Amino acid sequence: MLPFDACDIAVDKIRPSWLPEGIRLSVLRLDRIDPLISGNKWFKLKYFLQDAQQQKRQGVATFGGAYSNHIAATAAACAQLGIAAHGFIRGERPLHVSHTLALAEKMGMQLHFLSREAYRNKAVVEKSFPQYYWIAEGGYGKLGAKGAAEIVQRVPDFAQYTHWVTAVGTGTTIAGLLMAVNKNQKVIGVSVMKGNASLENEILSLVSDAENKKWQLQVWQQYHWGGYAKKQEGLLDFMNDFFRETHIPLDFVYTAKAMWAVKSAIEKELFAPDSNILVVHTGGLQGNLSLPPERLNF
Ligand SMILES: *Cc1c(COP(=O)(O)O)cnc(C)c1O
Repeated sequence: MLPFDACDIAVDKIRPSWLPEGIRLSVLRLDRIDPLISGNKWFKLKYFLQDAQQQKRQGVATFGGAYSNHIAATAAACAQLGIAAHGFIRGERPLHVSHTLALAEKMGMQLHFLSREAYRNKAVVEKSFPQYYWIAEGGYGKLGAKGAAEIVQRVPDFAQYTHWVTAVGTGTTIAGLLMAVNKNQKVIGVSVMKGNASLENEILSLVSDAENKKWQLQVWQQYHWGGYAKKQEGLLDFMNDFFRETHIPLDFVYTAKAMWAVKSAIEKELFAPDSNILVVHTGGLQGNLSLPPERLNF
């Protein structure tokens, strides 16, 4: 459907200084599949967009904030597929829109700005535009998880890993991974939000055969660094150290928290000494453009 739909996805084996001898650590480079539709977002969008095309709607519409990777990816994927795209954005239109929104507009997405109150009543907004195919904020939903499940087959020799680790927002990506991995593989989700108690249930509600699969899932809640998209100096320093050692760029909203959680858990000896861990790099690097220039060493 899109050029990168069939290619293999690179896996980098890494040995940062904090990794003990026996443990193996690899990074699945979803950030490298496409410069614009980076990371997990294409996989999550794939079946929604296919459904939209089959239903012959006037366009696709979805929700997001000013720096949303989901908005950026939806704009890019729709542009490539020739689908009209509408982004419903939280907050009034500012004088200068964020780099994310400017890029989305350049790719042809029509932006609609909503007051914070209107943004909370998404069902009302959706009803006012019944001509569009609506995708939930962040691409949450079963079709999203179905697409994310396809990530697993694209990983060379995927059965060798004892643990899969990914950052979790809506939980759609990890739901897909959980459905597709083998029975003996654990799937760990690092929540990037503070105190999202219903997250595990939201993940499992997207998983077919959840009763059997739930034992393989762990959701870690303590690595949020103050909450969603909070810019913490310690986390930015960790990103710089990690890049110096591995040459892999992380983003401060999602992937840095996932990698930090792995480091912390290794230090607490939560992984068995012969673990073979795969961290899914879910992309999102465009979000780093909201940081002061020079703050990061990449
Ligand atoms: C959207 C996003 C996630 C979260 O994915 P969910 O499927 O919503 O859990 C993780 N990492 C990055 C970089 C993202 O942009």
